[in-house]
Amino acid sequence: MLGEEPHPPYERPQLSKAMLHAPDAPVAYIKQASDWSDILAVRLETGSAVIDCDADRRIVATADGRSFAFDRLLIATGTLPRRLAALENSAIEIQYLRNVEDALRFRKSIHDKSRIVIVGGGVIGLEAACAAAKNGCRITVVESEQRLLARAFPAVVSDLVAARHRSHGVEFIFGATVSGSSSDGVRLSNGADIAADLVLVGIGVEPVATVAERLGLPSAGGISVDAYGRTAASGVYCAGDAALQFSRCHDRAIRVETWANAQNQAIAVAGNMIGETREYGDPPWFWTDQYDLNIQVAGDMLEADHIIRGDTNCGKFSVIAMRGADIVGALSVNSAKEMAMLRRVIAADKRPARADLESSAYDLRAALK
Ligand SMILES: Cc1cc2nc3c(=O)[nH]c(=O)nc-3n(C[C@H](O)[C@H](O)[C@H](O)COP(=O)(O)OP(=O)(O)OC[C@H]3O[C@@H](n4cnc5c(N)ncnc54)[C@H](O)[C@@H]3O)c2cc1C
Repeated sequence: MLGEEPHPPYERPQLSKAMLHAPDAPVAYIKQASDWSDILAVRLETGSAVIDCDADRRIVATADGRSFAFDRLLIATGTLPRRLAALENSAIEIQYLRNVEDALRFRKSIHDKSRIVIVGGGVIGLEAACAAAKNGCRITVVESEQRLLARAFPAVVSDLVAARHRSHGVEFIFGATVSGSSSDGVRLSNGADIAADLVLVGIGVEPVATVAERLGLPSAGGISVDAYGRTAASGVYCAGDAALQFSRCHDRAIRVETWANAQNQAIAVAGNMIGETREYGDPPWFWTDQYDLNIQVAGDMLEADHIIRGDTNCGKFSVIAMRGADIVGALSVNSAKEMAMLRRVIAADKRPARADLESSAYDLRAALK
């Protein structure tokens, strides 16, 4: 296993949650470095960036001049943060949140700096805002859409999240973006200046396709795979954030940027690489933790009719997304048990009657029978 980072593998959700909330929280690694070889017989090569790949000779080459032969190859190169070009050459400090170093740096900043502008009201930006606000920083989130998390959340949930942040002092500017720096911070596309010591950018990610490109695989928008994780190159597979895969809920190919996909698609694809036949098509699922809100999303919430179960005012409810008779997505706020059922209903492609779903007395277990 060749990885560019100097660390043994770790999970990223901690970078915007546990690691930011406690000043001395250690990095939780998936396994001790020695366990990879001692228990799993995996040769782990950290600090090893693959820069070339020869499909005919079946060899990958690393930046430090070594080469490794393969019979089958898994590309799991993930994504990198989209850069904010408007600030790249400005004097103000600009940070991103993707790896351990980023999290340690931002954690130090939220203790040292007081005025932070966060560009992007998506999950990463909002989790960072939550940690920084709890530390007493003055936070302004600049979001180009008219509401938070517009790509994944219905408006009722966007509004709830915004209200929770505002109650912790976070300010929002919608319908604008950062166009450059000012004498004391940043300038916005609407002409306003905001004083800031630091800008954290969370405006999405781009797939890392260096290896795929060396193999001549098309990589615009991700590396295309079938339900078995196979790319168009013989014996070459892809899984995780970088993979462009068909999603039944979305009815198109998408990249699934979630922890659960990185784990479960990889497990299925690893099986296929050693001769098993494992079709993978889990509905996308992710969670976010902000203040007292645990929000989970499965499938696709957009361009669908929404059914609300529970009371939005008491901060514990679910939203089910339907297209015709199909449930294509679900979102839960502080209702993890209901989400566990909804994920099963979506995965099994069950179609309970809309009238049943609208009643919070309806037990979702009945839909699975
Ligand atoms: C701050 C943060 C918080 C998150 N929180 C959540 C959450 O709460 N819930 C959720 O569901 N998801 C969350 N995610 C998303 C989740 O972490 C990703 O979906 C997951 O990490 C994807 O795993 P991956 O292995 O596909 O890619 P990555 O985690 O990006 O790993 C790819 C690895 O490949 C390495 N690499 C790239 N190119 C090369 C090369 N040429 N040679 C060698 N190595 C290379 C990279 O250095 C990297 O270590 C979060 C992500 C971030 C950044």
